[in-house]
Amino acid sequence: MRILVIGQGLAGTLVSHFGLQRGWDVHVIDAGYPSASSVAAGMFNPMSFRRIVEVWEAEEHLNIMRKTFEELESITSTKLLHDLPIHKRLANAEYAGLWQDQTEHLKWLLPPTKCWPEEGVVEGGGWVNLPLLLSTWRTRLIDEGRFEQRPYQDDDGRGLSHGTWDAVVDCRGTATGLDTQMPQLDIRANRGELLTVEQQAHSINPPDAHILNFGKWTIPTSPGQWRLGASYEWNRTDLDPTAGTQQFLLNALDSAVPGIGQLKVTQHLVGLRPVSRDRRPAVGPYPGLPGWFVLNGLGTRGVLIGPRWALHLMNIIAGDSTATTETQPNRLIFG
Ligand SMILES: Cc1cc2nc3c(=O)[nH]c(=O)nc-3n(C[C@H](O)[C@H](O)[C@H](O)COP(=O)(O)OP(=O)(O)OC[C@H]3O[C@@H](n4cnc5c(N)ncnc54)[C@H](O)[C@@H]3O)c2cc1C
Repeated sequence: MRILVIGQGLAGTLVSHFGLQRGWDVHVIDAGYPSASSVAAGMFNPMSFRRIVEVWEAEEHLNIMRKTFEELESITSTKLLHDLPIHKRLANAEYAGLWQDQTEHLKWLLPPTKCWPEEGVVEGGGWVNLPLLLSTWRTRLIDEGRFEQRPYQDDDGRGLSHGTWDAVVDCRGTATGLDTQMPQLDIRANRGELLTVEQQAHSINPPDAHILNFGKWTIPTSPGQWRLGASYEWNRTDLDPTAGTQQFLLNALDSAVPGIGQLKVTQHLVGLRPVSRDRRPAVGPYPGLPGWFVLNGLGTRGVLIGPRWALHLMNIIAGDSTATTETQPNRLIFG
């Protein structure tokens, strides 16, 4: 099987990994456009905090996620997967009561401890170093002569009828919608800003042994360094970092960790999350285009759900499975 993967963000990386694992002849092109994956914090969390419930099929997603990133760690000889407990600030007595109740049913949840009386703890979370994954995976593809940095051209699609490719897989994230030659899928851009902050001498710091969620969150990524995020914005697609959002994130942290000293902002990134209207990914045949397939709409939880659905897409391409109703790309066609 010869497949062409368009885009090497998280989706294209996972698809090319699983394709190679099956022994397929995989080629990847990427235009080098700004990607969501290159700015993402890479956090994974089995819980949704608004109502303190498990996220969609948490256990199945987590198991496949863990196995996949461990495989990728072994292939790329890098440390990608960082397990860390997540501490959730319990904002008021009602929320703390709900947390206590849910600890009875949900194995991920622990009640507050003496050390952290105002924080519930989630096990099973952490973060994946996506920028490192993207760069090491690209190096591997280049070394094997499987990668070209360039945009998709119509000729690539014609390769299907000429027999160059058996399948083309569209992993272009929010850029898919810019291609007016294609049937349009309803994949929207949710704009996010994210900071990297560093410790200054004598400053009080965010926690360095767990992720702290206080509505916003900090992730300790290396000694003296944290990621602080993120914003969520619709109807805006520019990639200019805004001073107002930076201040908003720093103020939120300041309120959550009173007395926090000056932290130095060393990076301020902006990206567009590809999100479908029902918050489920698009996985399967691309509507109206024989031989085309799509993995898109990974949304805010690409790290957790991406591996499972990339694996499922391989089974669909191989003819061993069909698209599930919930993630069928057809449901997102406009009109
Ligand atoms: C600020 C922010 C924080 C985030 N934090 C998290 C997090 O903590 N945890 C989590 O799970 N998710 C997070 N996400 C979401 C996550 O980034 C996405 O779910 C995921 O990265 C989407 O990957 P993708 O491969 O579909 O798209 P992208 O990463 O956008 O990749 C698309 C790729 O396609 C290429 N491309 C586009 N057009 C063409 C073309 N015409 N020809 C060739 N190549 C093309 C681009 O160059 C790009 O490399 C975050 C996102 C943002 C913006």
